[in-house]
Amino acid sequence: MSAERTWLVGGLSSLHDPLLAAALKAGGTRAEALHPRTDAGLRRARALGNHGQCNPAHYTVGAVLEHARCSGVEPSVFAGRHGWLTAGSCGPCRLAAFGFEYARVLAGAGLDQLPVARVEPLALLEGRVPSARPAAANALLLAVAAGDALTALGHTLRPYAVDPRDVDALLASSVRELAEALQRRASLVPALRRVRAAAREVACDPARVLPRVLLVGEPWTTLSDGDPSYDLARRLGALGVEVETPLACDWLHYRIWEEQRDARAGPGGPEVEARVRALRRAERRLRALWRYVADAVGLGPARRPDPEQLATLAGAHYDPDVRGGSAHLEVGRALQADRDRTAHLVLSLKPFGCLPSSDVSDGILSVLLRGRPRLRFLALETCGDADTTAESRVEMAIHAAALAATDELDAVRRARSLSPSDAERELAIRSPWPTGPAGPRTFACTAAEALWRAGSTGP
Ligand code: SF4
Repeated sequence: MSAERTWLVGGLSSLHDPLLAAALKAGGTRAEALHPRTDAGLRRARALGNHGQCNPAHYTVGAVLEHARCSGVEPSVFAGRHGWLTAGSCGPCRLAAFGFEYARVLAGAGLDQLPVARVEPLALLEGRVPSARPAAANALLLAVAAGDALTALGHTLRPYAVDPRDVDALLASSVRELAEALQRRASLVPALRRVRAAAREVACDPARVLPRVLLVGEPWTTLSDGDPSYDLARRLGALGVEVETPLACDWLHYRIWEEQRDARAGPGGPEVEARVRALRRAERRLRALWRYVADAVGLGPARRPDPEQLATLAGAHYDPDVRGGSAHLEVGRALQADRDRTAHLVLSLKPFGCLPSSDVSDGILSVLLRGRPRLRFLALETCGDADTTAESRVEMAIHAAALAATDELDAVRRARSLSPSDAERELAIRSPWPTGPAGPRTFACTAAEALWRAGSTGP
């Protein structure tokens, strides 16, 4: 990777991108986080590209156009001074040809000389980053896991924070601190422990009775924050909703699982066995990395979803060998949430026109969850201009979920003969931090479940 160019790193989230840039800088590469992906960037890119293309590609390349525009220099000069490092696409589907679309849009904007390095997830796990040393792949992987830990921390704290802006401020300062440690190639543990200590200082109200939402959907949309996802996870948290979202490490885990499954289905032989062993090593490494950051930041023992279990759960409704987007993962996660009672609402978020995810939400989940009345379902398509519609539909669904959470708390109170003030007193001394009780639960509402577990009799 040329040391003269500044590499723009972006495409995951505002928490991940600066950490990824810092990881590259640690290896001596000039790097900076890409401009955030915005609706304005989407419109610019779409105007230059294929109008039928799904929007993750346009949001991402649109951020490059915005970065170039804000630099104030001519496109050709910008392209001569910069490169762009970005993730691959969301797998094999008719629209996943992101590379062609990037090239078309960049050419239309006069940026055709801008080098683009696309890192496929598995290449990262195997230490292969285009034109960079293997150490850069390790540092990038650590940055992904650290970004995930901050993402999960934000989702845990925000709904209980007296002022959700305190959580945003905590995350912003944490990104700076972790980026600085990554750049110095220092251990992240001290910085993550300081983040954990600072998180404990955020004023929280642990007695809140909150609905829980499981966010599923197309990978790029659910992993991102800001405009591409309507900033939905953060907005829901600020509205007082516990949100569980997929993380980038989950996506990497799924990609390993896919490769393992394909390798095992093949004819076998020494090469295949070596491949399976390498994938198993990558899987162990990824699990260890997640535990390393999750423990240090205080996220508790909650495990990430296991792709094999999700495939087993989803298998009767979606063939795990059909690939593209989140494939069977949406179905598996939704059924797991129903089985383990960990959500009141499943919200499927996808870009407008996303074939794999729309098939799942319109054709499978909406039918499957109709027979499970305690788990509501809402599908939303992001198109860059439907903010108000999305918000009002989400607020209606959240209202129903909040009523369900209150009903659950009332059921536990009755079972334990607690008055509302008794329950509130008991909940007020509970710590919402690091995380609520893990599944399987009796009640999806964390307050109801905590009160239930604290009591000795059932409803
Ligand atoms: S999975 Fe959806 S968003 Fe991703 S490339 Fe395919 S159509 Fe586009």
